[in-house]
Amino acid sequence: MVYDKNNIFAKILRDEVEAEKVYENEHVLCFKDIYPKSKIHVLVIPKKEYSDIYDFSKNSTNKEKESIFLAFESLIKIYNIEISGCRIITNHGVDGRQEVPHLHFHLLAGNDVGRMINN
Ligand code: AMP
Repeated sequence: MVYDKNNIFAKILRDEVEAEKVYENEHVLCFKDIYPKSKIHVLVIPKKEYSDIYDFSKNSTNKEKESIFLAFESLIKIYNIEISGCRIITNHGVDGRQEVPHLHFHLLAGNDVGRMINN
């Protein structure tokens, strides 16, 4: 997939669109989802242009991969949800219903986030 430089998260990364940032490291930016699906709903994105989890898995450096997990660790501490827990998900492609074509992980917490899939 060719990366679309006009996607909304690319604009947030270029500071062309505002976002409520909650954590940042060299390779990762975390900000609040504009339409939160739970009390805490944060998006975790790599700063480099990766369209989805497959692109990232194939092409990112180990440092970038590690930085994603460091971001998860930091967010869990920031929100004090070590015990209460959270759900971290990423949507990929058509079947995954990915809307924004820049890799992002949703961190959902602050309440019972419900069943994984409502069948
Ligand atoms: P997905 O369906 O996994 O691609 O999720 C895209 C997410 O991006 C949705 O949860 C949207 O609410 C969120 N979103 C879209 N635009 C913005 C924005 N400008 N700032 C923060 N979150 C956004």
